[in-house]
Amino acid sequence: MRHFDYNAGEMFAEEVPLAQIAAEVGTPVYVYSTATFTRHYRVFADSFADTKALIAYSVKANSNIAVLATLAAQGAGADVVSGGELKRALAAGIPAEKIVFSGVGKTRREMHQALTADIHVFNVESLAELRVLNEVALALGKMAPIAFRVNPDVTAGGHAKISTGKKENKFGIAWSQAEDAYAEAARLPGIRIVGVDVHIGSQISDLAPFEKAILKVSGLIKRLRAAGHTITSFDIGGGLGIPYGNNAAVPPPPSEYAALVKRLTRDLDVEMIFEPGRMIAGNSGVLLSEVLYVKRGEDRDFLIIDAAMNDLLRPALYDAYHDIEPVRQGDLDQMETYDVVGPICESGDTFTKGREMPKLESGDLVVLHSAGAYGAAQASQYNTRPLVPEVLVNGAEYAVIRSRPTVEDILKTESFPDWLTKHENVTDI
Ligand SMILES: *Cc1c(COP(=O)(O)O)cnc(C)c1O
Repeated sequence: MRHFDYNAGEMFAEEVPLAQIAAEVGTPVYVYSTATFTRHYRVFADSFADTKALIAYSVKANSNIAVLATLAAQGAGADVVSGGELKRALAAGIPAEKIVFSGVGKTRREMHQALTADIHVFNVESLAELRVLNEVALALGKMAPIAFRVNPDVTAGGHAKISTGKKENKFGIAWSQAEDAYAEAARLPGIRIVGVDVHIGSQISDLAPFEKAILKVSGLIKRLRAAGHTITSFDIGGGLGIPYGNNAAVPPPPSEYAALVKRLTRDLDVEMIFEPGRMIAGNSGVLLSEVLYVKRGEDRDFLIIDAAMNDLLRPALYDAYHDIEPVRQGDLDQMETYDVVGPICESGDTFTKGREMPKLESGDLVVLHSAGAYGAAQASQYNTRPLVPEVLVNGAEYAVIRSRPTVEDILKTESFPDWLTKHENVTDI
């Protein structure tokens, strides 16, 4: 069931009319559905109910603490990629023993923070990082639990910028170097080997690359065990794609993914770790925006809306497709074709070109669907557009879970150096 849908010609998020949120919070604004987050998490978790599995939600997809707390209440762990995300996950009530720490460039400070918190495992991506982690752990009198993220050299992912499992990508330990890396880790007194980790890409729409990666890593796990290493966990990352509503390949449902994973890992006797992000959050949110102007051009019409690439970067960054619909259900007999664009001074600030949709006018509201993952989390204040706020709906209620800063808030973080304040034409902000 869709939790962003029309009721009597008007689009709702669960039981709240989007027009009400637009009027009360202002636009642009992200609107999330608790029921959708919960359902996506449950679909994933329930398909692994009979397996020893940790579902570590990938915080970077949507890192709002209210979203994290919603998932924590369902039993989710977290996959974090920075000390900031670690702090968020802990603040939202995700227990440290359910947190995994990924990323190619962890700092000493972040390692210290995660070791002090006693997280579940570090996914280590290089020997250089391993040696630093060993030092930081020894200084704290601890042993750091690690898995190496290995790079299985498989092709996967919906776009070059989100493909991570090829050898030319910066991620993971090169396949040919993996066994030597484990041998070195076993010699370091501040390191405790617990598992193997892969993450091959994002928006993956077929199971074949997962199958390839799992088969390769299963072989590696057997070789590592034969070499005397204790391997108790196998983290297969995230990456399962979601339908965006266009004609692109529709990804398999989580149940098929789960069946494949279970079939291929049954005999390994490991704890499975998953790091789903987009699959949980992507279709749990929309970006709600108001039409500012319809500009009739020479050969095309532009729908200029008040959301822009700084609020939702995906179309500019990944050529991503988002379904766009009017909040007040349009007249299907009156279709028009628009380039939907934002107000930012970049041609890249284009959400779509030549999209057919019901006729819209200045003041109408639109939603950009499938914006719950890699939306608000990637937003910036480019063009001094205050960070887009976020709203979480729960049945008939809603709450603002990130407020819109004022321009004064933004200016407060900036200051004049001494040599400029001496000029009389510089005014106090
Ligand atoms: C981004 C990321 C994920 C989540 O990927 P999705 O495609 O959103 O599921 C999981 N693990 C790691 C290491 C990541 O970088």
